[in-house]
Amino acid sequence: MPQECIFCKIAANEIPVTAIYEDEHMIVFPDMNPVAPVHVLVIPKKHIANLLELASEDVSLMGHILSTIPKIASKLGIDEDGFRLVVNTKENGGQTVHHLHWHLLGGRAMTWPPG
Ligand code: AMP
Ligand code: ZN
Repeated sequence: MPQECIFCKIAANEIPVTAIYEDEHMIVFPDMNPVAPVHVLVIPKKHIANLLELASEDVSLMGHILSTIPKIASKLGIDEDGFRLVVNTKENGGQTVHHLHWHLLGGRAMTWPPG
C-alpha cells in the first residue's frame, strides 16, 4: 500500500467511513464533498493508481466492480431515475486522488457536456 494513499487507508479501515457496500474486493462510501444529492465513491481495495495502470490480472476485479454497481444504485434508490458513473483520469480528467475510483452520482438530472 502506498503510505500516503488516502483510499488505501479507507480500504484498510485506518480511516473510518460509513460503508454503503463492502466485500473483500471493493468498498463504497459517501464522497466527503458531494456534488449531487447522491454521491458515493466506489473503490477497489487493491491500489491501482488509475485506469491506465490496470493489469491483465485486474480484468475480473473490474468486472466484479462494474457488475456490482446496479446493486448499489438500487440500494441508494437511484436505479429507477438513473445516474452517472465517472472515472476522472489524471490531470485533464480532474483526478485528485490517485487510487482508481468511480463517482456514482444521482438524485438529480445531470447536464451534458460535463465541465
Ligand atoms: P477525483 O477528483 O476524481 O480524484 O475524486 C476524489 C474524490 O474523493 C473527491 O470528490 C473528494 O471529495 C473525495 N474524497 C477525498 N478524500 C475523501 C475522504 N477521506 N472521504 C470521502 N471522500 C473523499
Ligand atoms: Zn491506494
